Amino acid sequence: MTSTVQEYGIFIGGKWQKSEGKRFETRNPATGEILGTFPLATKDELNEAARAAKDAFDKWRRTPAPRRGELLLDAARIFRRKKEELGRIVTTEMGKVLAEGRGDVQEVIDFFEYVAGEGRRMFGETVPSELPNKMCLTVRMPVGPVGLITPWNFPMAIPGWKSGAALVAGCPIVLKPSSLTPLCAAKFVEVLDEAGFPPGVVNMLTGTGSVVGDGLVAHPDIRAISFTGGVETGRHVYETAARKMIKVGLELGGKNPIIAMDDADLELLMDGVMFGAFGTAGQRCTATSRLIVHQKIYDQVLDELTDRAEKLRVGNPIDERTEMGPVASAEQERKVLEYIEIGRKEADTLLTGGTKLRGGAFDKGFFIAPTVFAVERRKRLALEEIFGPVLSVLKAKDFEDAVAIANSVKYGLSSSIYTDDLRWAFRAMHELEAGITYVNAPTIGAEVQLPFGGIKETGPTGTREAGPTALDEFTYWKTIYVDYSGRLQRAQIDTDRLVRE
Ligand code: NDP
Repeated sequence: MTSTVQEYGIFIGGKWQKSEGKRFETRNPATGEILGTFPLATKDELNEAARAAKDAFDKWRRTPAPRRGELLLDAARIFRRKKEELGRIVTTEMGKVLAEGRGDVQEVIDFFEYVAGEGRRMFGETVPSELPNKMCLTVRMPVGPVGLITPWNFPMAIPGWKSGAALVAGCPIVLKPSSLTPLCAAKFVEVLDEAGFPPGVVNMLTGTGSVVGDGLVAHPDIRAISFTGGVETGRHVYETAARKMIKVGLELGGKNPIIAMDDADLELLMDGVMFGAFGTAGQRCTATSRLIVHQKIYDQVLDELTDRAEKLRVGNPIDERTEMGPVASAEQERKVLEYIEIGRKEADTLLTGGTKLRGGAFDKGFFIAPTVFAVERRKRLALEEIFGPVLSVLKAKDFEDAVAIANSVKYGLSSSIYTDDLRWAFRAMHELEAGITYVNAPTIGAEVQLPFGGIKETGPTGTREAGPTALDEFTYWKTIYVDYSGRLQRAQIDTDRLVRE
């Protein structure tokens, strides 16, 4: 019997190529269906891709930035035209519900449209000189060819954020997507190819983290790395990049809290918690994984939450009625179930869920019941990232106690407070240790025109994707002095004389 499964290649120098490497499959996590096979790119192919990016750099950096931006706008138009098709691919390969699959693609459209404008802005500064007939200014310069390493949970949006900023900045890219979502990456690159980026400006290699990912970070021709993934992988990437002394942007894990004060609008709170905790089956880096509740409303919140979680419609995410799909892989499922077991062993109170869903269509995929635990503050479920549909609820005495609990983890990505009291809201904005704070909204829902990133172990390099800060990862500042006085003027030395004369 001949196989109908499509075989994909790697994209180097503007061409799809066959690889010498072995192949791996990508599957639908809801049904087990094989969606395509992809190469495990080899070391030689990595060298070839890095060389293609290096060779393309000189011409690309000289391409006027507005023109680089126009190509992103062309790509945004294609994404818009193909949004439904691509959204379905995201859902089929990664398992998020269809509305979120479409949202993943929309995020690429939004960001490409936003960052394309940087091609016409990319502002530097003009600064007064301390000497006459002399001008000082700053300009952004592209760092060179860059490596982009991405996870599976936003399989189009994260490659979109990274590549949009790199490309408009003038940096050719080598993209290494997660091995769980190579199909989304291939479809993403097909659009960039159709938009007409010159050969070598966009390259993509599928393959293992150890060969392609690690090799990319260590490669001498790659001048910056933008990485999103887990903390331990990020630490390794950071160390390798440090040995090479290159720029590195890191967006790592999270353990994001919502604080519910006793004056919170409960209906609004519940809507936010359900979306924050169980949207994308809890597999967003900004997912709400801790709910810290004021003691006065604790019992009421637990009852309401249990009720809502039990009513959540779990199923095949391609069905529009489904509210939560499967987790993304067998490995994810194993990890999440392991945490549920830890919760049981540490005597946390399981309020609902806590099982793999079985029977009928559930048997084909990686479905876990929406799970809520009541947890004490020093337990592992209160401190460690789970990255699945598991919410830990903690009781706080008052505002100060809630903030202390919120800040007690090693992560610092997103945070939120529900309150109608301005004093609590403003104090939370200042006191929560996180890159993002929401007021009366869940921890998820970033918009592309604002900086995105974390502190502590979530964002050790302090970079921010999206927003006006997006270019920082891929550019350095050059300071330029133009002396048109026609004589030697000495800063700090001749200035003294000028004041006295
Ligand atoms: P991983 O850290 O396992 O993988 C991320 C990427 O790194 C993948 O492409 C992976 O390749 C690659 N990789 C693996 N090993 C290496 C290596 N030694 N050197 C270089 N690259 C390597 O994360 P996941 O894909 O499992 O994503 C989930 C994690 O990502 C969560 O912890 C989540 O919090 C975090 N995340 C953070 C976000 C943020 O903005 N802060 C946003 C989204 C996710 P391969 O797949 O082949 O192993």
